Amino acid sequence: MKKIILDLTKDELQKVLKPAFRAKQIYNWIYQKDVKNFNEMLNLPKEMREDLENNYTINPLSILRKEVSNDKSIKYLFSCKDGFTVESVLLPMKDAIKDENGQIKKEAKYTICVSSQVGCKIGCAFCLTAKGGFKRNLTSGEIVAQVLSIKQDNAIAHNRRVNIVYMGMGEPLDNIDNVTKAVKIFNDLDGLAIGARRQTISTSGLSHQIAKLGQMNLGILLAISLHAVDDKLREELMPINKAYNIESIIDAVKGFPIDQRKRVMFEYLVMKDLNDDIKSAKKLIKLLHGIRAKVNLIYFNPYPGSPFKRPDESDMIRFKNYLNDHGLICTIRQSKGIDISAACGQLKEKTENDLS
Ligand code: SAH
Ligand code: SF4
Repeated sequence: MKKIILDLTKDELQKVLKPAFRAKQIYNWIYQKDVKNFNEMLNLPKEMREDLENNYTINPLSILRKEVSNDKSIKYLFSCKDGFTVESVLLPMKDAIKDENGQIKKEAKYTICVSSQVGCKIGCAFCLTAKGGFKRNLTSGEIVAQVLSIKQDNAIAHNRRVNIVYMGMGEPLDNIDNVTKAVKIFNDLDGLAIGARRQTISTSGLSHQIAKLGQMNLGILLAISLHAVDDKLREELMPINKAYNIESIIDAVKGFPIDQRKRVMFEYLVMKDLNDDIKSAKKLIKLLHGIRAKVNLIYFNPYPGSPFKRPDESDMIRFKNYLNDHGLICTIRQSKGIDISAACGQLKEKTENDLS
């Protein structure tokens, strides 16, 4: 089977190709000029092009399905070379602003949500991805390919910076080597040049891996899927809490290097009558005391057979206002793409049902 060239950092490519500047040229072709095969890389010697063609694939993913939501977010289902499928979402955050002559004054802003694994081992009770079990880790190239494919499919110019969130399928810190390698490949100035500060890793709270990630000092942003403020409820929702309880997560976050201008995001999935009360909000404030935190409240997105319910909007707003009034930055995540099965795992599930 051919190797995936997107799996390689520029340094690794330099080691297999001589002279070293060829790696830079190839990076430019793939990430900045969007060529789809090696024969188009005209400044490479013909022999090298043939050699690359025989040994490497460029993009290992193909688009299997695509759903556009009313709010313009686009959900992709990609097929890997071995037939496994993963989801990613393009979220337009802000439209371009044009002046009176129709010239773009301010560019549109995008966030791309990527998957890190096929399935997930963590087994959270509310998550559809968990239901299918764990299949395998994605390689760094498969992670990079999600962003490359989505930028290309939407003609987003190579030098337009996008934000990346590792909030699709899978637990990124359970695949820390490939994920952090993808972070570095995204960083490369000869490639997509997406800085670590534009990338957010979301984790269910593997405390020892948070510590490991912190030691790497990549400059990446961190999001913690907290969802509950006491261990009993958190254990029910997220069995991983038995191994890494709330206190261990808070300790790991306190030791994590955070840019002075940035904050650690705490995601709080709100489920009706479970964790949407003011008592929980109070506990949350206590828990996050002393941390440069921001809280992102997420509406639980129900799916057929899910045991949890979407919270009432009024309870959501009450919770948010309570946190804000007590000095905690808190926003409600706009349920982008709710009409396109937005939460992770939901497009995959739908496609499997359609196909069966
Ligand atoms: N495994 C990582 C990243 C992927 S999950 C993590 O858990 O952080 C990304 C986010 O989607 C998590 O915060 C998760 O709690 C949320 N999520 C899972 N199922 C959901 C659902 N049905 N509705 C809304 N959000 C959901
Ligand atoms: Fe895995 Fe995240 Fe889903 Fe939990 S919420 S099962 S960690 S993908």
